[in-house]
Amino acid sequence: MNTKYIFVTGGVVSSLGKGIISSSLARLLLSRGYRVTIQKFDPYINIDPGTLNPYEHGECYVTDDGHEADLDLGHYERFTDIRTSRANNVTTGRIYQTVIDKERRGDYLGKTVQIIPHITDEIKRNVKLLGKTGDYDFVITEIGGTVGDIESTPFLEAVRQLKWELGRDALFIHLTYVPYLHAAKELKTKPTQHSVKMLQSVGIQPDILVLRTEKELPQQMLHKVGKFTNVAPEAVIQSIDQPTIYQVPLRMHEQHLDDIVIRLTGADPRPEPDFSAWNAFLHKLATARKVVRIGLVGKYVELQDAYKSISESLMQAATHLDHKVEIIYIHSEKLSEENVAKNLEPLDGVIIAPGFGQRGIEGKFIAIRWCREHDVPTFGICLGMQCMVIEFARNVLGLENANSTEMDTKTPHNVIDLMEEQKSISNMGGTMRLGAYKCRLRPGSKAAAAYGSDEIMERHRHRFEFNDDFRADFEKAGMLCVGENPDTHLVEVVEIPEKRWFIGTQYHPEYRSTVLNPNPIFLSFMKAAIDFSDSKNSSR
Ligand code: GLN
Repeated sequence: MNTKYIFVTGGVVSSLGKGIISSSLARLLLSRGYRVTIQKFDPYINIDPGTLNPYEHGECYVTDDGHEADLDLGHYERFTDIRTSRANNVTTGRIYQTVIDKERRGDYLGKTVQIIPHITDEIKRNVKLLGKTGDYDFVITEIGGTVGDIESTPFLEAVRQLKWELGRDALFIHLTYVPYLHAAKELKTKPTQHSVKMLQSVGIQPDILVLRTEKELPQQMLHKVGKFTNVAPEAVIQSIDQPTIYQVPLRMHEQHLDDIVIRLTGADPRPEPDFSAWNAFLHKLATARKVVRIGLVGKYVELQDAYKSISESLMQAATHLDHKVEIIYIHSEKLSEENVAKNLEPLDGVIIAPGFGQRGIEGKFIAIRWCREHDVPTFGICLGMQCMVIEFARNVLGLENANSTEMDTKTPHNVIDLMEEQKSISNMGGTMRLGAYKCRLRPGSKAAAAYGSDEIMERHRHRFEFNDDFRADFEKAGMLCVGENPDTHLVEVVEIPEKRWFIGTQYHPEYRSTVLNPNPIFLSFMKAAIDFSDSKNSSR
């Protein structure tokens, strides 16, 4: 069968959850046996979100091939277990960069370079890139932004043209919002009607409408919307707020979203989806009663999207172990010797968050020391691991003012330092150690036991590394370098084996943790936190 292209647009307001609808549809089609991928087109000029402050755009997600991507790619992978790549996330900036590079090379042979056709052609080429591999039955393309945004216009024009070329192999899903006016006690569909009109005015007729709503929409209201917008009544679907986003695929299936997509695109029919594993997860999520309390020490606590993949990984691991996780966000800048005990005592486990720069770093050292001395299960990720190393150097090895050269270029003890090949780099974008690398784990270590394997692959996003000159000193004093890159010998995992669970990873395991396959190191950490919680309860 030909590859089918599904385009997902949004209207009325942003943050409606196009990523969740796209991911849910992907989950449904996958569960029926189709081969599916999802891609996101972002209408901003940045080449990628790698240089964006988390306040702007939440977490930066990283793919196996080292692309710094929009956090929606994290949803795609968590819902589907399908690995994404650079091809799954394209920004306006990247489109323009390619076109401008071509222009400089003279590839346009003296022609005037314009938005139409040059930019739109480049968008179209990117839309079809994954489909052309022959690896997918469905390519779902989410178009960032809202219909009517100036920035989105070239994308909409490109996909309008694609519909003409692809005919039945292309389909449009438009997501809108139906507000409930409390004063009038009424649901209002007018914004939806206007939003579809706006889409129609650029030549796009949606095939399916998904209406986001906080309250159940009566059937006749859905039919009315269909009539106003030329959409078949059964193809107007509602998406009501759910207790968890992972319920959304089931709600969409109840309203036959997958059947409608299959019918409208003429895809070869497949059996009903198999949801047994997904339902088992949802059942555990709904029924788990015992709570495990995990503190997350970082500097973006008021902005929880900054740690999206970590909080999701914790939730997945706890759920698989039949527990409910309560994540307590602890502001590293506000931690002091005086308040650390009060903040950390109630916790069953602590995550030391990744990050960049000096702000909040001293609070991380205070938290790590307290956890180490009180034997609380502790998991340092990237900068968190580097902070574990620095804290150990200062307080166990007695190396006063030990630091990372990221924080203090003149530190007398540079236990964390820049890699040689990073020293000459001056550009910020896309120049870190990025993407999946092999890591060999020391047999017998807690990390190796967690993975049940001596060789793993995990994703990275950092510039600084453990300084090998200090390795012997650390090992002698009890912090072991149990994970190492087999090619470069860079240290990837440290642990203190005599502690309950005290592990730092230079890599980011949260980028490879999904609903159906939680990352083993998160499972191991969560298990240690649960055991610690049980031991506290039984000694009470
Ligand atoms: N700032 C540190 C580095 O660049 C850690 C980065 C991170 O935590 N992702 O090495």
